[in-house]
Amino acid sequence: MADSVLVDRGGGTWQVESGYLRDDYLAVYLIVEDGKVAIFDTAHPGSRSQVEAALAELDLQPEAVEYVFVSHLHLDHSGGAGHYARMLPNARFICHPKAAEHLADPIKIIEAAKDIYKESYDRLYGEVIGVPSERIETAADGTSFSLGGRSLQVLTPAGHSFHQFCLLDKSADCCHTADGFGHLPRLPGNAKSVMRVISAPSQFAPEKWHEAVEQIAGLKAARISIAHCGMLEAAELPERVAQVQEELATFVDFARNSANSADPLAEITRLMREHWLAKLWPGESNPPGESIDGDITLAALGLALWQKRHMNKA
Ligand SMILES: [Zn+2]
Repeated sequence: MADSVLVDRGGGTWQVESGYLRDDYLAVYLIVEDGKVAIFDTAHPGSRSQVEAALAELDLQPEAVEYVFVSHLHLDHSGGAGHYARMLPNARFICHPKAAEHLADPIKIIEAAKDIYKESYDRLYGEVIGVPSERIETAADGTSFSLGGRSLQVLTPAGHSFHQFCLLDKSADCCHTADGFGHLPRLPGNAKSVMRVISAPSQFAPEKWHEAVEQIAGLKAARISIAHCGMLEAAELPERVAQVQEELATFVDFARNSANSADPLAEITRLMREHWLAKLWPGESNPPGESIDGDITLAALGLALWQKRHMNKA
């Protein structure tokens, strides 16, 4: 099984390596019940082949996939959706009411991502295509879906984005959170395992994110999955919640302290880099900072946007 793309997370839950950027950076989750499959998150377009390989490895046909839950519109989570639609003939695509229009016609998400990623866009995403609108269904907070009798309940905590989906799988005692809780990918060197917040444009809302982590922890699920990347166990959740909340407070401070600078975005970028290098590789003279360049660009842009809106309102 050296070439496996799967990690068995128990209770019919499988973590699939999405193949985005590097190993253990972004996962898609499969939930399997009685030969029927639900997929949580659709990653980037290139993840289609990974999901195809995962289904084959589990001896499941693409026709067995009944649901695809699209966690939110950021392209590293929605970019694969249209490609999955072509691969999975029976799947219903479930998303937040605010996401449906853009899932069917992703042009605005593509343009926004090209603005952010510039010359890297093609390498990261390539061709992004829409999901046929007749296959898209929206779901409000609290809506439940049955997968072979297994209940999957949608939750919509904001903070990372206004169109965020989490999915509570009571049978597996697992809540899938995508980017709704926080960010903990494997990083090179002796990086510390600490939660980070990626305040990606354009809907970062620290006060809502603060509530979201409380809400997710309050579910008392045995495990929560995060898209970047893996599972958090209940025993570590209080510490993880504290890490996210500390990070949110730090970001608000960065926004406040850079508001009067000549170039707030440059100042936020500088503060964030310094903060993450110290947090992730404390005391290292030559930390592999290039591994977080993309995170810094994305988080700084989103925080600067929040600063502009929030500080203008204040
Ligand atoms: Zn995101």
